[in-house]
Amino acid sequence: MLLQFSPAKPPSNLRRISPSSAVSPLRLFRIFAIDAAQPFDYETQLKSEHQKSSALKIAVVGFGNFGQFLSKTLIRHGHDLLAHSRSDHSAAASAIGARFFANPHDLCEQHPDVVLLSSSILSTESVLRSFPFQRLRRNTLFVDVLSVKEFPRNLFLKYLPEEFDILCTHPMFGPESGKNSWSGLPFVFDKVRIGEEASRIERCEKVLRVFEKEGCRMVEMSCEEHDKHAAGSQFVTHTMGRVLEKFGVESSPINTKGYETLLDLVENTASDSFELYYGLFMYNQNALEQLERLDMAFESIKKELFGRLHQVYRKQLFGGDLDLGESSNDTTGPKLVGNGVPVEERSSS
Ligand code: NAP
Repeated sequence: MLLQFSPAKPPSNLRRISPSSAVSPLRLFRIFAIDAAQPFDYETQLKSEHQKSSALKIAVVGFGNFGQFLSKTLIRHGHDLLAHSRSDHSAAASAIGARFFANPHDLCEQHPDVVLLSSSILSTESVLRSFPFQRLRRNTLFVDVLSVKEFPRNLFLKYLPEEFDILCTHPMFGPESGKNSWSGLPFVFDKVRIGEEASRIERCEKVLRVFEKEGCRMVEMSCEEHDKHAAGSQFVTHTMGRVLEKFGVESSPINTKGYETLLDLVENTASDSFELYYGLFMYNQNALEQLERLDMAFESIKKELFGRLHQVYRKQLFGGDLDLGESSNDTTGPKLVGNGVPVEERSSS
């Protein structure tokens, strides 16, 4: 950029120094406070104006553990953040540069572009039922981040006015697993209902761009598909973490790598509320089946061990050869397939 200085009229933050006829006019000025933006620094001005004009006003509803965690990153990406929650989180909001509204009517009167729902799974329906949609702009984008997907999608379709856009998402990480970076972590989304106008498409893309720029692995899939996969992976992970927590795993002086992984699993799942875990079970129709499969798998392993133990006792009681090698494999329980039916049983039917 070419800057023209007029020695006769120096800008207010430039101070004139003693003139000398041998010195070039440009050297007559010395800049003080070089870290402050200069009035002629148009690039900085334009950049901040562009950032302001492309920033979204995002209202986070449910400003608990996860809502606050997400908000920090949304603010870092230049978005204007408003928050509302059942409890008073105003101190936490102002600490990260968000504005807290105790009353949802006041929040909606700010006319946010996006309402991001981060309430507990169990409370979502009551939150939506009492939400003052009529105070929002005629088309507002609703986004949810619940860990189950079919349930909020159906609630959105039921309660939201038809003109509203709907983006269902699941950032598959939390304050613990994503505390250092979101790079490579999965972000699932389903554009359930986005209007055709360019501005509505762009608004949705701006939300997705935050996660893209953070390096998330963006996975577009339907809410149904998400719930099938999540029951077999996320729900099972949380269940094992809670079982091990109840079992009471503790660090020992001879921890193996595998045991360290179990300790990490317990630490990761213990930081999530029981309400969240219960929501994963109650509002994912595939979760019960997975819990039953886990139960059957555990029984099957026990049967396998007790079967072999039984052979040892029989040998001690009645004598004879004890073969714990391949020939004793009939004590091995069958592997379970998707619906919990043993593989052999299914293939013979
Ligand atoms: P959570 O226990 O699932 O939800 C806590 C939030 O729900 C708080 O904002 C709380 O409000 C609100 N809430 C609870 N009961 C309520 C009620 N009766 N009425 C109104 N609001 C109520 O814990 P979370 O970890 O913060 O999760 C929030 C959402 O993010 C959940 O839907 C969860 O599935 C999803 N999510 C969580 C994670 C994670 O790792 N934690 C990851 C991905 C997605 P107050 O705090 O104001 O009381």
